[in-house]
Amino acid sequence: MIELAPLPGFPVQRDLIADIDPMLDQIRKLKPYLQADGVLATTSEGKVDVFEYLQHPQQLAKYETLTNCIACGVCEGSCPVFAGGDAFIGPAALIAASRFVNDSRDTATMARLDAIDTADGVAACQSVRACSRQCPRGIDVGEEMWQIVARVKER
Ligand code: SF4
Repeated sequence: MIELAPLPGFPVQRDLIADIDPMLDQIRKLKPYLQADGVLATTSEGKVDVFEYLQHPQQLAKYETLTNCIACGVCEGSCPVFAGGDAFIGPAALIAASRFVNDSRDTATMARLDAIDTADGVAACQSVRACSRQCPRGIDVGEEMWQIVARVKER
């Protein structure tokens, strides 16, 4: 038997439509965009070579999988803590933070870690790992939660 139901953990608008705006607001709060130092790549003569911030493939590999997140909310709906409401910022927001914390080009790492080092941030994650089972983009969300909690603690 197949059961169809709106995504759990979110207010239902009607039928199968859930309101995911609360999740998107949490993601936005963590500034999910690159904050680089403004220093562009230059030639040996000091001229601007390309208008982009360069990094090595190994540096890209640290966060590339996390860029696949489409903010679908499935991990949030799977999380028993997030389902409780405002108690937890949620795994999708922490994935968004982690994506930039692991980006070598980003210069706001400490501020990003501070922003999730809160009672409703990483402290609320109970490592249930239910979030890992459902991600349609192949992200091991529970493992990423574990990693970002460790980064916050080792600061
Ligand atoms: S289930 Fe995967 S793709 Fe969907 S919001 Fe969570 S991490 Fe992103």
